[in-house]
Amino acid sequence: MSDHLIQTYARYPVEFARGEGWQLWDADGNEYLDFLTGISVSSVGHRHPAVVAAIKEQADRLLHVGNLFFNAPMTALAERLATGSLGGRVFFTNSGAEAVEAALKLARKHRRGGTIVTVHGGFHGRTYGALSATPQESKQAPFAPLVPKFTAVAPTAEAITGAVDGDTAAVVVEVIQGESGVHALSDETLIAARRACDEHGAALIFDEIQTGLGRTGSLWAYEQTPVVPDALTTAKALGGGLPIGALFTGPKLADVLEPGDHGSTFAGGPLVAAAAHAALDVLEDPALHARVNELGERLRERLAELPGVVAVRGRGLMNAFEVETDAPDLVRRLLLEQRLVSNATGPTTVRLLPPLTIGEAQVDDAVARIAALL
Ligand SMILES: *Cc1c(COP(=O)(O)O)cnc(C)c1O
Repeated sequence: MSDHLIQTYARYPVEFARGEGWQLWDADGNEYLDFLTGISVSSVGHRHPAVVAAIKEQADRLLHVGNLFFNAPMTALAERLATGSLGGRVFFTNSGAEAVEAALKLARKHRRGGTIVTVHGGFHGRTYGALSATPQESKQAPFAPLVPKFTAVAPTAEAITGAVDGDTAAVVVEVIQGESGVHALSDETLIAARRACDEHGAALIFDEIQTGLGRTGSLWAYEQTPVVPDALTTAKALGGGLPIGALFTGPKLADVLEPGDHGSTFAGGPLVAAAAHAALDVLEDPALHARVNELGERLRERLAELPGVVAVRGRGLMNAFEVETDAPDLVRRLLLEQRLVSNATGPTTVRLLPPLTIGEAQVDDAVARIAALL
């Protein structure tokens, strides 16, 4: 559909023109059920009325001032995010990868020259630092040399304990790995990472860009584990559809980054911050989290009953299922024939990331569309 886009994405031949809640419409007016949400971005649903209203109101007031000054939506958002999570400070970014970059710079300044320990299957973004923390040959190899002193180990207690020493700056992990196909790290692994970091003075950083903001049935996924990280990254759903990310620290790392250490022209702008407040009004609600857990259980139960589904895994509304057949082909047919938007994370894995505002009817509808092709 365009010869003028650099071809970094193998796009489907669909052009979306409008969205509302869990529905999308293409340019020809066909209606789709969205169980991907632009990869866990539109968690409040498309064009949530409160988000749209907040954007319109802020657009009439002020769009940009930059980071040499304060703006009220940003300062209030920092307070809201910090008090609702690790209790330290917040650095705003425009994307997930940038939040990871900020976390890596913080870790390296905290322990100068230190090693960053990551785990196999992890995904942290496409910029150089984030890519260096993403141990996948196909993504890294064409862009070598990467940032020095990143080491990837198996996502197990033993491997992480063995990799962390007095030269480690940070351990960076997802509580549940998203891009590798929804694989949770065990509590045992997370506890071992916490212990190893404590013992050696390294920072434990959780990348909650995909797992955070209610997706797994609590505001942050770490709340359902026995471990609290020293810093956390978020992005994706935070802006209700607009681009914003953030790095949060706990009190221990709150003052590591000082004036001049890092920056961003756009980050924390009043428009995205206003949208984020409206999105958080929806995503912080414990009643929503309870619904996410209920609907997630229903989805996993229904999927497990389908012939041709060989495994189902996930937490809350972050789920994946395994098929015997070709998952990328199934996802393509789900989109083009059944008008269900989903995503293949591997040759046999289909990932489902619906809006958190769906109901039983949408869960059952999605399962029926999948069943029709199995
Ligand atoms: C999507 C994602 C990123 C990258 O975010 P971008 O906004 O695409 O840069 C990093 N980490 C995790 C866990 C993600 O899911």
